[in-house]
Amino acid sequence: MNVLLVYAHPEPTSLNGSLRDFAVQRLEAAGHTVQVSDLYAMNWKAILDADDSPERDTSRPFHTSLDSKIAFAQGTQAADIAREQEKLRWADTLILQFPLWWFSMPAILKGWVERVYAYGFAYGVGEHSDARWGDRYGEGTLQGKRAMLMVTAGGWESHYSPRGINGPIDDLLFPIHHGTLYYPGFDVLPPFVVYRTSRMDEARFAQTCEALGARLDELWSTRPIAFRQQNAGDYRFPDLTLKDEIAPDREGFAAHLR
Ligand code: FAD
Repeated sequence: MNVLLVYAHPEPTSLNGSLRDFAVQRLEAAGHTVQVSDLYAMNWKAILDADDSPERDTSRPFHTSLDSKIAFAQGTQAADIAREQEKLRWADTLILQFPLWWFSMPAILKGWVERVYAYGFAYGVGEHSDARWGDRYGEGTLQGKRAMLMVTAGGWESHYSPRGINGPIDDLLFPIHHGTLYYPGFDVLPPFVVYRTSRMDEARFAQTCEALGARLDELWSTRPIAFRQQNAGDYRFPDLTLKDEIAPDREGFAAHLR
């Protein structure tokens, strides 16, 4: 299997760097092929702007999604964007690895998503009509592939528990799981989260690697998070709200789980 690991930490000797090295070794030892997009090492351009469509018509104002659509369709996107899209097409599984920064991904990784997820590639895919709102949420370009987050957090696990002060980790990661990964079609696996990182020592690092190794060994058999597909009958069209009879006692993020 082909695995793309997109890695967002500025320091190779960090905890994240050690976990990345472990993950690559483990996957390769199991016979998989791994590519790493090390965003800081690549000096990844994090901002989406007109330079992403180098051959655009400059006689009119830059339009973020329209110029993305044209550049993608005409094969005139910035080369770094096209390369990452090619890696995504190649991959059977995507791993996004990052330290939790302000309850989300570091800006450089957000910029990878914003730029690589072009119009026509990750959104604006499929039929858009009076009867259908495209192929998304379980369908789309990346359908049939798997994705998983590898996240480290300074806070304690209890801080991220259902009644914890930071809010439940599943809620905090919902926009990435559902909005970034499920949207273009990935099957999203439960995340691998390391909490209380300042308390890491050699013994705990060994335990963490053991747990991570087990998750990596099961990447292809782990049951994905049971998000509801947009086009499988649970949502009313065109308002795209859940039908009254679907999970009537639930709302918010949890309602979108089968
Ligand atoms: P490092 O700092 O590199 O290492 C952590 C510990 O692991 C150190 O003690 C180190 O010695 C040890 N270690 C590293 N490698 C090994 C190894 N191979 N073997 C044994 N021990 C090792 N946290 C939250 O919970 N929520 C937030 O919203 C949040 N926001 C943040 C925002 C910013 C801008 C920053 C800078 C931090 C934030 N944090 C937050 C904390 C952050 O999530 C953690 O600092 C980060 O996850 C730790 O990962 P690291 O790779 O940087 O660890």
